Amino acid sequence: MPQALGKNHGGYCGETIDIDDVLASLVAEARARDWGVESLPVDPELNLIALHRQPKTVSRRFYLSTGVHGDEPAGPLAVQRMIEEDLFPDDAECWVLPCLNPTGFALNRRETAAGIDLNRDYQNPQSGEVQTQVRWLENKGRFDCAVCLHEDWEAKGFYLYAVNPKNIPCVSEAIVDAVRPVFPIDRSAEIEGFPACDGIIRPPVNPLGPSIWPETLYLTKHHTDLGYTLESSSDFPLANRVDALVLAVRALMNTVSPA
Ligand SMILES: [Zn+2]
Repeated sequence: MPQALGKNHGGYCGETIDIDDVLASLVAEARARDWGVESLPVDPELNLIALHRQPKTVSRRFYLSTGVHGDEPAGPLAVQRMIEEDLFPDDAECWVLPCLNPTGFALNRRETAAGIDLNRDYQNPQSGEVQTQVRWLENKGRFDCAVCLHEDWEAKGFYLYAVNPKNIPCVSEAIVDAVRPVFPIDRSAEIEGFPACDGIIRPPVNPLGPSIWPETLYLTKHHTDLGYTLESSSDFPLANRVDALVLAVRALMNTVSPA
């Protein structure tokens, strides 16, 4: 079992990535495997990458995004691994945004270069990144599940948020059980101010107040009845965090039933 490094003081102080290299390699791997690749212009200097996988037979539709916070490198690396190793279920149409905050990664910080925390910008989006993403999402319809990958520099281990307003059969325990053999689970009774049980948080539908919407809330309002936010703890070696997120996404995608 990986051990905490004790490196994070006041923020993430661990390994960083060159996001341009990661995205270039991930896009090349995606193209080689017949994914559709789109470049969404945010402004003259910035594009977001959007990937689409369309199998011949589709019984489920998934949305996966990450890289909302530029100090959380395991998410884009987990997506890269899943594409390279073809780890998406055969029956699943998948829409993937591998990095929503490229300018934040260049600075190794949570916010964009313009200082915006994108994950608080989903009610009336002010950032070009979220405006671009939301426009792209408009014609994408409903997903059986939407998954957002994050990291938490303070957490003791892996945990997740399950936003499930219709109480459909939930797969949270299956996700935690898949991660448990390879990565510590944060078993705190309270995480980020929410009651938690064995690494599972079931937040109220509007957890942060009327005007501060995280991405998952937007997705569960408009595109899905099941929104997951998966969080690794970034005080562990980066390779182990990537393993944890990949196992978690696979457990989720292999377990979710069609809506
Ligand atoms: Zn985050």
